[in-house]
Order: sequence, then C-alpha cells, then structure tokens
Amino acid sequence: MNILNHKDHDKKILHIGFDDTDSTNGRCTTHLAYLLADILIKKFKVNFIDFPLLIRLNPNIPLKTRGNGAVCLRIKGKEYEKIKEETIHFIENYSDLENGANPGLAFYEKNVISNDLISLSRNAMDMVLSRQIAEKIARKNNIKYYLFKKGYGLVGALAAIGCTLNKDHTYETIAYRKKVNIGTTRKIDEYKVKKLNDESFPFTFNNIDFRKNRILIAPHGPDPVFCGIRGEDPITTSLFFKNLQIDEELDGHMIFRSNQGTNLHLTNERRLSKILPFTSGIINCQVITKPIIIQGGHIIFYVKDYFNDILPVAVYEPTRLTKVAALLEIDDKIEIGYGAHIKSNNVKTLNLEYLLIKELKEIIYFKNPKCEKCGKKTKSEGKNKGFQCPLCKNKIKNVSKIAIKKNRDLKCGLYIPDPIAHRHLTKPLYRYNNEKKYNKKYISDLLKNTRWISKNSGGLI
Ligand SMILES: [Zn+2]
Repeated sequence: MNILNHKDHDKKILHIGFDDTDSTNGRCTTHLAYLLADILIKKFKVNFIDFPLLIRLNPNIPLKTRGNGAVCLRIKGKEYEKIKEETIHFIENYSDLENGANPGLAFYEKNVISNDLISLSRNAMDMVLSRQIAEKIARKNNIKYYLFKKGYGLVGALAAIGCTLNKDHTYETIAYRKKVNIGTTRKIDEYKVKKLNDESFPFTFNNIDFRKNRILIAPHGPDPVFCGIRGEDPITTSLFFKNLQIDEELDGHMIFRSNQGTNLHLTNERRLSKILPFTSGIINCQVITKPIIIQGGHIIFYVKDYFNDILPVAVYEPTRLTKVAALLEIDDKIEIGYGAHIKSNNVKTLNLEYLLIKELKEIIYFKNPKCEKCGKKTKSEGKNKGFQCPLCKNKIKNVSKIAIKKNRDLKCGLYIPDPIAHRHLTKPLYRYNNEKKYNKKYISDLLKNTRWISKNSGGLI
C-alpha cells in the first residue's frame, strides 16, 4: 500500500520506529520523539512527510510501559547513515535503561510499507507478540534494527512503522516541561480547561471526567509531559493548548497523529474458547447467569457464544459500567469489548471494556389477581383451586394468574466507561459514527500549515 506517494521517487522515505524507551520511573517515549524530531529538522534539515505517529498497542499485555505507546517518524532527507547513527546514540543515551526500559529501534527505507509490517502492526493492537517474531519479520524485510537490554520495544517499533493510520485517527498536542520543573506540581487552571472543553466539543476529548470532577489532560508523575490535548485535528488541539495560557515556562510541544480514541484494539472477534490471555477483542454472546456483585463493587457474570463456549465477564467498579451490567438478565444478547486476563484462581476472564446491549430478554412473571371487592391482592388456594382474598375472604374461581411483563429499567444500546477509566485506545462515545476518513492530501496540507513542533531550548534534557 502506497500511503506516502511522493513526487521525489529517487530518495526513499526513512521510517524510524522505536518503543519501550521509558520506565515507570519517568521519561517518556513521546518526549524522546520530540527531542529527536527537533534534531532531525535542525541538524539534518529533513522533511517530515507525516506527523510524528504515536501508536498505542494492545493495552492488555502485562509486559508494557505505562501507556504502551510506540512512535514512528517518517522523513525524507539526506545523510541517512548519519541520521541512523545519531538516532542510535540518542536512544542509547536517553532511554531509561537502568530502570527497566527495554528499547527497540528500527529503520525502514521504503516508500511502500510491506504487508508483513502492516499485518504485524494489526496484530500488535490486540495480541501478544514476541520479540522473536518481530526479529523474524525485520530480517525478512531487510529492516535494520537495534535491541537495547531485552529489546522488547522492537515489537512496538515495527508496529508503529507498520501502522499506516489510513482509516480513523486522532491527534494529540503534547507539551513538555523544562528540566528544572520536572517533578514539581503542574499548575493548570481548571476553569479554563472546562471552558475550553465546552468550546471545543466535540473536537477534543477526554479533557475532564465530569463525574469525578478530575482534569485528565495532565499526568501526575515526574515525567517530562506537562499536558496533552487529544482531539480531531491538530489546529483545535493546539489552540486549546495555547488558550490554556500556562504560567510555567515550557520547553515546547509537538503534535502527534495517533490511533488513540479509535478502539483499534477492539476489532477482531474470536470464539470464546480460542481467546488467549492478554489479548483484546470483541465477542457477541448471550448472558447465561445473573450478574453477581463481588467485593469492591465489581460484577461477574457468565456468557456463552454461538459455539456454546462459556467464559466469565468481569466488570470493574471504576468503569462505572457495573450499574448497567447488574441489570442484565439471563438470555440477554450483548456484544462486548474485552481484555482477556487470568485471574488469581487461574480462570480466564474477560474484563469488560464496552457493553453493547443488542436484545433484552422479555421477562414475564405471574401475579395473583386482585380481589374484585376490596382490591387487596388475593392468595392462591392451591393449583387450579382459585384465589381467596385474605381481607374479606371473597373467593375467585376460574381465573388464572396474571402475566406481567417485567420492566427492565435497561435500554438496548452502547455503554462505555467514564473517561477516567478509559485506556488510550478507548473510543469516546461521541466518536462512534463520527470516525474520521483518511485523506492523504488533507493531512499533508495540515502538516505544511501547522507549527507541529516548537522547541525553545536546544539539546538533550
Ligand atoms: Zn377482598
């Protein structure tokens, strides 16, 4: 697939992919991308042919950094060998190798992304891929790659290169702090965030969790990210950021094109018995047990699919989907988005990521008739023996119980978690049926006309 169809066919595009450069201790792969992009432009005068890509991978794998986000930079320029050398040093020096980072770095020099890479990228969204598989694909496609420490990041590095984002996609403007400020409290005017959120709706998302009244644009840890504004186009996200009028002097910002908010991890349907631990996906199924509430307010119920395979589904309280899930009844037909996990009792369980109620089972229950004289509910005299009023002793014969349709208090439709419980890939409610179409020319114009990177201070942090 030729996603990057350029006039200058002589020089090939260089795709630089990397992942797992950070640790839970701080630092961040997007920050490294920001520093590297700045050097590539200033020192090597390269042209970017797409926005830097921030690609989130399967959020349900246990071995991952915080956000499980990989980066790809697609550039055209000269001195590719020098660029590679510089990038290798950069990853080596900047990654948090002492604190658990296992970076992978890959260089791919082609104008057309191979099908191998595209398919690896698709699989990386919802499956668990080994470094060995990634290495095999890299060798087959003549991709130069580098592993640091255990090199798990190679999977993400290749997945980012192979992610063409030629369907739905979003943007994020990420602002970075100066080194002196890292670790200090971020001062953000909540009122402004709320106002800008209202003004920019529905073109930005997940700025606030209104139920918890929490601002979601900024992390809390000691990492270099000051804040990130996610949305539908780079102009709106950057304007939002600008209008926040942050007091702190920042190092700069960069705009990423991303698969965040697209549910790219929830696309494949597999039968229940074939679902592997730590994979993500969707399943159409039928509720076969009444939901029960367990400790912590979480909910468990069992489902079966068309093959009569059975698995438990867990709904966690912070998703706020427990209230809806608790109202499910046996034989309700649903579709769920899930992350498959292994619980302490060694049982494979599907953690609910969204709930689509397709068909509610009609539930009928039977009631004794009311007394014709005083209106009191009658008591049964035994099977086929009629009813008697407990108050006035009036007897009713030749009448059967009255069938009543239970009011389900539940509507068919889509239920997704509150923003605070979203994964990076979770599609916000308003984005359903508003997915973006890919327009290469439009993106390329946006890239030309947007100040997508701005960096004040030079060099490494
Ligand atoms: Zn009566």
